[in-house]
Amino acid sequence: QATLFIVPTPIGNLSDITERGLEILRSVDLIAAEDTRHTGKLLNHYQIKTKTFALHDHNEQQKAEYLVSKLKSGISIALVSDAGTPLISDPGYHLVNTCRAHGVKVVPLPGPCAAVTAMSASGLPSDRFSFEGFLPSKEKARNDKITELKEETRTMIFYESPRRLQYTLDALTAIMGPERQVCVAREMTKAFESITTMPVGELAVWVAQDSNRSRGEIVLLVSGYKPTGLEIPAKVLNTLKLLNEELP
Ligand code: SAM
Repeated sequence: QATLFIVPTPIGNLSDITERGLEILRSVDLIAAEDTRHTGKLLNHYQIKTKTFALHDHNEQQKAEYLVSKLKSGISIALVSDAGTPLISDPGYHLVNTCRAHGVKVVPLPGPCAAVTAMSASGLPSDRFSFEGFLPSKEKARNDKITELKEETRTMIFYESPRRLQYTLDALTAIMGPERQVCVAREMTKAFESITTMPVGELAVWVAQDSNRSRGEIVLLVSGYKPTGLEIPAKVLNTLKLLNEELP
């Protein structure tokens, strides 16, 4: 049966790929990759000769139709992204969605994902978490998003660019308060891996002290809001507001 395999790839250390992942990359007819040159390095390392096909965000919708027609003709395809699990802040959604709409079998493999890897070592509550992907790049939209998440009670996981880390830590300090526990997980599985958890007010200062502390690839985790029990519920606030408008 024609199958689309979802194959996670390393997020730094090339050894972080499963035996089954390598077997599938070797045995499928085609590898659909976010960037064929990037994936080429991994395939070279493992001496895998399978043909690759470029599937990136701006052409994914059209190419998905083409790949599904290939799958229906009986060829098997593995989907990979540059690093980690495809579809997680990476291309693949349209392809998987189209496959499922056409009854093509989709088989996922477990494997590296920067968000979950960082969560496991952050020391922040891991029983419930919310994956937020990348924050908006424009200042106002970012601040609005952080404000919207101020009372989220689950641990929040963000992917962050090194250029914006300091700004985001400062904004988190201002909006959520300096005491909120935050973790910066940098360069995981690579030579300069560092995972640091502190109250965000201190973390913002610590990062500002040395530019190496915001280099490379970064996952940012923010612990959830802890209600004190003294807050006025939103419903009550709303009623008070209405009363205030109506009363003379
Ligand atoms: N699909 C990937 C996954 O499963 O993690 C994520 C792809 S997203 C385009 C890339 C972002 O993931 C980076 O900007 C960074 O925020 C995070 N990331 C990837 N590798 C990382 C690593 N080794 N250490 C820390 N963060 C990493």
